[in-house]
Amino acid sequence: MNRVYNFSAGPSMLPMEVLEACQKDLICYQNSGMSVMEMSHRSKEYDAIIKDAEAKLRELMNIPDNYKVLFVQGGASTQFSAVPLNLMNKNKKADYVVTGQFSKKAYKEAQKYGDVKLVASSEDKNNTYIPKLTKEDFRPDADYVHICFNNTIYGTKWNYIPDTGDIPLVADMSSCIISEPVDVSKFGVIYAGAQKNMAPAGLTIVIIREDLMGNAREDIPVMLDYKTIADADSMYNTPPCWCIYVAKLVYEWILSIGGLEGMKEINEKKCAVLYDYLDSQDYYVAPTEKEARSMMNVTFVTGDAELDKKFASEAGAAGFKNIKGHRSVGGMRASIYNAMPTEGVVALVEFMKEFAKNNPKAE
Ligand SMILES: *Cc1c(COP(=O)(O)O)cnc(C)c1O
Repeated sequence: MNRVYNFSAGPSMLPMEVLEACQKDLICYQNSGMSVMEMSHRSKEYDAIIKDAEAKLRELMNIPDNYKVLFVQGGASTQFSAVPLNLMNKNKKADYVVTGQFSKKAYKEAQKYGDVKLVASSEDKNNTYIPKLTKEDFRPDADYVHICFNNTIYGTKWNYIPDTGDIPLVADMSSCIISEPVDVSKFGVIYAGAQKNMAPAGLTIVIIREDLMGNAREDIPVMLDYKTIADADSMYNTPPCWCIYVAKLVYEWILSIGGLEGMKEINEKKCAVLYDYLDSQDYYVAPTEKEARSMMNVTFVTGDAELDKKFASEAGAAGFKNIKGHRSVGGMRASIYNAMPTEGVVALVEFMKEFAKNNPKAE
């Protein structure tokens, strides 16, 4: 069996060490006599797993004590509703920045629940940049400001944390969480679907400052109320047990290679292999602004839709899977999350060189 380099935007690669650990304990976890998939979430064994998962994530991200970590389901998309239902309940106002499709979906969903302002958007240039914003850009009485920190589809990332003053900043970090250190204390809420960089699909992480809980709308569905979930230690109902277990293994793997500082160093070098090549030639073009480039999702085009198609198909046949760009953008996208080894990116660049040589563009 040959494993391929999987450049999928999500679900995506998991570290080999984690897959092997899963395999080793798949049928019988320690002395429990059963698989983690078969365990009661109320059992002693599982209680240790979920507590350890939280402790490891706290250690990894250096999460302050006045923040809760919630393990929930429904994907990041459910948070598009949960955020306004929980937080847009003082002045019933929220400010949104749209830098891609997911932030736009979040912005649209929030409009159902109050006065939502589009503070800035990068749609004028096909979301290839991140707007530069200052405190004055936000309404002082907004209940929160929402951003998407890494734009999975377009391949851009905020290279700064916008200053929102006392207004809580909410960030969708689905495609960049635990790729590098972030100062959690600068955020009111961080949420992320786990299937990009943490675990199999089915788990969503919410990190929330404690004082922001308990002010939800009266009619909020109970499963979306952060306070309900926090008060029950993410066990109000059955949590995504297996995903939390795998996430714990992923956290342990990152801790073993130097935590988020170590991870960042690896990720910076890894994405530089691709960006340096892109900058060194003119067959392929990286459409994103340099200073807004994502470390996790690298987009590029040949400028010819037919060639792009050929590239994606030949790359797939050569073992570089899922490199076709998002259907709304076209071109190519290499998602190179934590688990993608640097060798995978080096090999991809070699393939790109070869492809360019074999497919000269018509003048
Ligand atoms: C993938 C993704 C989503 C959607 O996540 P689901 O878990 O599928 O709902 C939202 N935001 C960002 C930034 C993403 O990358």
